[in-house]
Amino acid sequence: MMNTGKAKPAWLIIGQGAAGAAAANELRRLDSEAAITVIAGEQAGFYSRIDLPDIISGKRRPEEAVLQSPAQFQAAGIRCLTGVQAVTIRPEDHYVELASGQRLPYDRLLLATGAQPVLPGLPGMTAAGVYTLWTLEQAAAIALAAAGARAAVVIGSGLIGLKTALALRQRGLQVTVIERMNRVLPQQLDETGAALLAAALRNRGIEVLTGVQVAAVATGGGKVAGIQAGSRLVPCELVLCAAGVRADTALARTAGLAIGAGIVVNEFLQTSQADIYAAGDAAEVIAVLAQQRCLSAGWPAAVEQGIIAARNLSGRSTEAYGGYLAKNSVEIAGVPLVSAGNVQGGDGAEVLIRRTGHGYKRLVIKNNRLRGFLLMGDIRQAGVLAGVMARTDAGGYGDAAGAAGSYVDLLAF
Ligand SMILES: Cc1cc2nc3c(=O)[nH]c(=O)nc-3n(C[C@H](O)[C@H](O)[C@H](O)COP(=O)(O)OP(=O)(O)OC[C@H]3O[C@@H](n4cnc5c(N)ncnc54)[C@H](O)[C@@H]3O)c2cc1C
Repeated sequence: MMNTGKAKPAWLIIGQGAAGAAAANELRRLDSEAAITVIAGEQAGFYSRIDLPDIISGKRRPEEAVLQSPAQFQAAGIRCLTGVQAVTIRPEDHYVELASGQRLPYDRLLLATGAQPVLPGLPGMTAAGVYTLWTLEQAAAIALAAAGARAAVVIGSGLIGLKTALALRQRGLQVTVIERMNRVLPQQLDETGAALLAAALRNRGIEVLTGVQVAAVATGGGKVAGIQAGSRLVPCELVLCAAGVRADTALARTAGLAIGAGIVVNEFLQTSQADIYAAGDAAEVIAVLAQQRCLSAGWPAAVEQGIIAARNLSGRSTEAYGGYLAKNSVEIAGVPLVSAGNVQGGDGAEVLIRRTGHGYKRLVIKNNRLRGFLLMGDIRQAGVLAGVMARTDAGGYGDAAGAAGSYVDLLAF
């Protein structure tokens, strides 16, 4: 319920990552009068987490990752409370309580609380020298530790693990990546693509172990001494655990909101409480292709959801979120790659493959619809294929009768 006693609406945002910052800026654009407050657990303002490996490698200074400082938000009339933790939401009384005990009233609230790295409960995981990477502070700590280390082990070969492995290698460390699945970058690549990428990583001097489960962190005097994986002990002084992230739902739970893998939202990004919205890595949204609920990990989706949530929260317009489509466009170890939708296939899908020199293309088609694609090496087709995927989602590619044949042309150019 809007507080009609106030002249200006009070909009409160928790989190100043991609979703929270996009929402704050959009709200300011929509309403020059409203009181907008952002509660940020971190001090640095809005910065690019994608740049963190470059800070570890020494390619960038931490301040170069900052996209919008707290002073710039303030100058736009957006009040920022930085280094401050929100601990409780009282939806019935429309206020949020901070760790200091201060209460902040709101008319409408956006939860953009993001994600937190997962630390598996293995022996030795809490020893000095084991790190996770999500924040600028953690990147600075890893850079410092790397300066005194000879060898590092990275647990997990997702985007964060591989980018950090390359950063540590650039600093001259001996680096081993350990992945329990049978391929690197398992969410984005199939086996062939993963073999190409693993070869590129090995060319850069990184040891890659796949299908290997970490049993424990070996320690000596409370510090990391190595990683026990199968029968092998890999000696190291630094461990990066990049074994996945989980949506940060801690604050949402205090309001009794519906929670699944993340904060459950409807197509308007509204939670189970009408005046509370959620966006970004913290939210559980609908996946475009599978029409199931999913977490929407990724920067572009967080920005898009932040903007849509802001529009709905403002009451100025009503806009439905079109749904999440997994799409990554990155360059790793000199290999540009774009992976979108379902690249694995299975469940009766047809798969079209083309190898050209250093390039690899893979299209996954089901019921005459492009459900996913992977481009490696030559990624010039990514825009066309993304467009075809969006079109086919609305009803099939061309008029060809239900076969993958009509997609063969797309492999050719
Ligand atoms: C090293 C690295 C590389 C990445 N590479 C890519 C990439 O190539 N492509 C891509 O798409 N994505 C990438 N990502 C992921 C991307 O950064 C995230 O998807 C994106 O940051 C999510 O934005 P968000 O706003 O939802 O959450 P976050 O960025 O996690 O921000 C949430 C903020 O909320 C704050 N917060 C949480 N709870 C509270 C509370 N109770 N009180 C106050 N503050 C709170 C947190 O401190 C945090 O600052 C990468 C991430 C990392 C770490």
